[in-house]
Amino acid sequence: MPIAAPAYYIRNMEQRYCLECGEVFSGRSDKRFCSDSCRNSYHNSASRQSKAYSYRINSLLNRNHAILAECRRSGKTRLERSEMAEKMFSEKYCTACSRRFLGRPVYFCYDIPYRIEGRRGVRILSE
Ligand SMILES: [Zn+2]
Repeated sequence: MPIAAPAYYIRNMEQRYCLECGEVFSGRSDKRFCSDSCRNSYHNSASRQSKAYSYRINSLLNRNHAILAECRRSGKTRLERSEMAEKMFSEKYCTACSRRFLGRPVYFCYDIPYRIEGRRGVRILSE
């Protein structure tokens, strides 16, 4: 995930502002940090943010999968809107999408295909 450079990262002739601490420093024109320690701490926090982001999405996908798998185990093919809200099913993420069912998108949460049917909720398809 690209991290946008903060506004204080401004190139100004010889002087530059450290991306991490904001201090003015001079050096090569491609240098972005005043020290190794600033460079390391900047990259560590960028990597932490990226890990936190993927952890959050993976959690949502795992919860969606558990909800769909539970429906399927109990023989249900539909997850009503109210249940989606109650169980916190997230429509925003899926693991794959294809257009094979009457030209309408079929989403997958790992191995489970489903279709979003507007106000009627989610219809779980057979494999
Ligand atoms: Zn610095």
